[in-house]
Amino acid sequence: MPKPILEQLAEGPVLGDGGYVYILKQRGVPMEGYTPYAIFTHADAIRQLHQEFFDAGAEVIQAQTFQGTRNRLEQIGMAEHYVEIHQRAVALAQEVAGNQALVAGSVGSAVGSKGLAQAGLTLDDARGLYQEECNLLADFGVDFLIVETFMWMDDMLVALEAAKATELPVMFTASFKEKETTDDNVSLGECARKLKAAGADVVGINCMREPSRMLPLMRWMREAVEGPMAMQPIGFRCWPDYTHLHGVRDWPKRVLAPTHMADYAREAAAIGVNYIGCCCGSGPEHLRAMAKVLSKTSRQ
Ligand SMILES: [Zn+2]
Repeated sequence: MPKPILEQLAEGPVLGDGGYVYILKQRGVPMEGYTPYAIFTHADAIRQLHQEFFDAGAEVIQAQTFQGTRNRLEQIGMAEHYVEIHQRAVALAQEVAGNQALVAGSVGSAVGSKGLAQAGLTLDDARGLYQEECNLLADFGVDFLIVETFMWMDDMLVALEAAKATELPVMFTASFKEKETTDDNVSLGECARKLKAAGADVVGINCMREPSRMLPLMRWMREAVEGPMAMQPIGFRCWPDYTHLHGVRDWPKRVLAPTHMADYAREAAAIGVNYIGCCCGSGPEHLRAMAKVLSKTSRQ
């Protein structure tokens, strides 16, 4: 079995996997309910993409449970399959990872960029939703949790509290759109310090921005906190036509070259990013190029 995530991160950069939602959508998988819905309807397509990332050299396979809190599944009429969706998603990732890669459970925000108050959820409501999901992922045997794409500080802290309660290692990555603050106006440095102080084992940034717009933020974060950091940028160019990925319709025309993602991986490692992966719109070819510069062996 691979070493536990925190041990691996202490020894050198760990290569994550790529983004699922955009690539699967491009392959014709409906994504209205994100990947938890597709786990039910298109498990083979998800398995195939897990396999392609694994073959490219991914050292972590993310179970496709993002947007899988109970309220999210209620919104798409899938709440009755809540347990089964998580079970299937973790089993699928474990099947591909075998004894050669770690499996992370992905936990996304219950409310996204709306924020808890606007979505009509109290902190206790949110904490309950996250606790239920984190416990379930832990029960199904994920190796660690990736809590990701959070934009509001209060939402982050309750999710982190729930994740920490499982006693699994927790990687927490916030998302920054055009501003260099959370949506509730906490500066990036302060956000990282708060997450660290609240017990996140790994802190970082994912989604919304391409590498060139995320690397400066990672340098800032490196100055703000010590310990392992994670980075998962998107795989296509937004700036300067768009401030971030929301609203980009012509993304396949904007996909970054694999060499661009390789340059990103090299630069991220140089500034001390320990977990190097990618998010929306990044596929197996990106990962393969990144594996090469990080001296990871592609498996096929
Ligand atoms: Zn993303």
